[in-house]
Amino acid sequence: MNSIVTKADWQARAHALCIPDKPFINGRFVSSRSDSTFSPINPATGEEICKIGIGSSLDVDEAVASARDAYEDGRWRSAPPLRKKQVLLRIADLIEQHGDELALLDVLEMGKTISNARAELAFSSGFFRYYAEAVDKLYGDVVPSDLSTLGYHLYEPRGVVGAITPWNFPLIMASLKAAPILAAGNSLVLKPSEVASTSTLRLAELAVEAGLPPGVFNVVPGLGRTVGEAIGRHMDVDMLSFTGSTRTGRQLLRYSGESNGKALLLELGGKSPQVVGADMRPDLEAMVTQIIHEAFWNQGQWCVARSRLIVEESFHDELVDAIVRASEHLVPGDTLDPDTTFGAIATLGQMARVRSYIDAAYDEGARLLSPEGKIDGCFMAPMVFGDVSPTMKIAKEEIFGPVLSVLTFKTFDEALRIANDTSYGLAATVWTKNMTRAHAAVRDLRAGKLAVRSRPGGGEQTGFALSTEPWGSSGFGVEGGMSGLRSYCRLKGVEFVCG
Ligand code: ADP
Repeated sequence: MNSIVTKADWQARAHALCIPDKPFINGRFVSSRSDSTFSPINPATGEEICKIGIGSSLDVDEAVASARDAYEDGRWRSAPPLRKKQVLLRIADLIEQHGDELALLDVLEMGKTISNARAELAFSSGFFRYYAEAVDKLYGDVVPSDLSTLGYHLYEPRGVVGAITPWNFPLIMASLKAAPILAAGNSLVLKPSEVASTSTLRLAELAVEAGLPPGVFNVVPGLGRTVGEAIGRHMDVDMLSFTGSTRTGRQLLRYSGESNGKALLLELGGKSPQVVGADMRPDLEAMVTQIIHEAFWNQGQWCVARSRLIVEESFHDELVDAIVRASEHLVPGDTLDPDTTFGAIATLGQMARVRSYIDAAYDEGARLLSPEGKIDGCFMAPMVFGDVSPTMKIAKEEIFGPVLSVLTFKTFDEALRIANDTSYGLAATVWTKNMTRAHAAVRDLRAGKLAVRSRPGGGEQTGFALSTEPWGSSGFGVEGGMSGLRSYCRLKGVEFVCG
């Protein structure tokens, strides 16, 4: 039997999709209390996907009340660890079983290619598996004391946790937030981005099918200014975990300060560097595949995109030439065609933003090194700009699109200075075979996630276990790994005197 799924198959499946479009509260889909709606648009075709209520503070009140009831009666919080583990593992199974459907929802709403969306499923299920296994490994510790006293630390859930996610990896982001929040025993109210909310709604439904008690995982779709602000200002939300722009992150700080001072975890913008030494010349071809992946994955729409290439002057021409040649294989096209190598930019608004940076690049004297591709609707090919100086807008500001800025260095100190010359500090990659340089990079680079590579490949095994915390304008709070689980816990110090 031929098991290859063709473009026509994906089109037929997309056509047959049942698209969730209502808040998911207390284990079921309910009508939004808002009268107005918004419509997610498929950026690849311009077609409206569905209509969703813009949401209101009443929807949020209902979701928070449901999460609070679930938390207080302990239906999930007090469940035995092995039960929690079983449910989270089952959610991972269901993500895989319904992978095609979930991938399609993300493709239709935000324009990634079907092959990328399917490749990303392993991250979503992987977060649930990792945190399922972590549930019964969250140990407190015993502190030294006199013999009549037992002093110890206890990790407890924080209570009702709100989460607000962006549109670039809708299902991954929902999983990255939900898996540790639930594993820690909290109840959750999640607002996905209005650009792409349907896979998150379906995820919550699957979680209940997996055995998660109703009320523990609620999803309220809607706009930032309606649902997002209402979660941010809610007096009964104990913590808020956010991934999105630095601008919105700052607003959430304000909402917290003006409401109940809820704890925040903020993963914000980035302008991450990729430093490449000339000593990597022997690995040129294989290394370029990874450089391109880190710059242009998801059409460059990811906060850890290494959008500044900082290359040793003597290696510049060779490296740029190889990057430009390799990027020519990234050709924008039909997102439902499994052979398409490059998807769409998520919205026309985002496209306008990317175009404004391209204009600024030309105005400030940067030079396009890649072939000039056609910009059509939400489609554009990757662009590589040279003659970029550290003060130019395309070297300083987050573009969130497929635009790579190339800068050069003569000494490694200069490379690190340029890499750190940003208010952000989300991620960085350094390529070198020189131990002294590698050590200096680890010591001096301001980045939450740092990859130091002396050869191409590797790194696949760290995906779930690594914990990272951003610097500066990129936010604060640890995500990933066991420390990421502890972010969603409260630490209680117990002094137990008995006998
Ligand atoms: P982007 O520009 O990439 O869309 P945003 O920070 O605007 O990044 O959006 C990320 C998430 O934050 C989305 O779910 C969005 O609806 C939400 N959001 C936007 N503005 C606000 C706000 N004022 N309050 C709360 N949430 C918001």
